[in-house]
Amino acid sequence: MDPTHGRAHAPRRWQARARALVEAALRAFCGEARALLFPQGCLACDAPAAAAWPSGLCGGCGAALPWRPIGSAPAEAPLEVGRRRFAAVVVALRYQPPVDELVLRLKYGGLAVAARPLAQALAAAVERAEQQAQQAIAAGAGEGASFARPDLLVPIPMHPWKRLVRGGDHADELVEELSACLGRPVERLLKRRRATVAQGGARSLRERIEQVHRAFAVRAGGAARARGRHIGLVDDVVTSGATAAAAAFALHRAGAATVSLLAVAGNG
Ligand SMILES: [Zn+2]
Repeated sequence: MDPTHGRAHAPRRWQARARALVEAALRAFCGEARALLFPQGCLACDAPAAAAWPSGLCGGCGAALPWRPIGSAPAEAPLEVGRRRFAAVVVALRYQPPVDELVLRLKYGGLAVAARPLAQALAAAVERAEQQAQQAIAAGAGEGASFARPDLLVPIPMHPWKRLVRGGDHADELVEELSACLGRPVERLLKRRRATVAQGGARSLRERIEQVHRAFAVRAGGAARARGRHIGLVDDVVTSGATAAAAAFALHRAGAATVSLLAVAGNG
């Protein structure tokens, strides 16, 4: 028996074992990647994924999206304050099933891909608002009816320690998807000056506005990029509108020509 026989095969056995290990790791990685993209089929109801591409929603959830009429502000009204600050307010959907589930999965479940159907819905609402404004002007309405998609998109930033706790900022995912849909660039012009407490309590609108007043600042160098532009301020769910109003305040102070609020969902 050739004494080198065993040694000659040892490396091959080692290579085969290594290859098997690499293949197993790749299979696991691909499985993980697929699970990340389509964790449970439909992003809202977990129905099988076959019908879920490209929005990530199954046919039932896609058809059940609770669209809000264009041009109507959410009932909890916030935008009385906002109206003075926003050239236009586009809130695409009502915050009810399946939208609430998608938002929760995006914000707290770390499911970044849930941003896709939400951003697509918001982009569709922006396009409808543009068409509606064009029709109104063609029908003789004044320039007050005009609305065109903003020059650039600015997300409302999360406070850094909240970002740390949640492992990321869902607003980033949302605004990047929206940018791809609308063909407008993202500019992260805002930073938080301090954390704001949750707005779900029984505080009055005035108190909430004061609380977030001056909560935002424009980043160094941001004023030059904001000046004279029509900015689309992007938020996920509008409740009081006070946070968005505070963000718009900072953008106006930096010289933005107009600010429109683009939000995925709102009450009413
Ligand atoms: Zn579904």
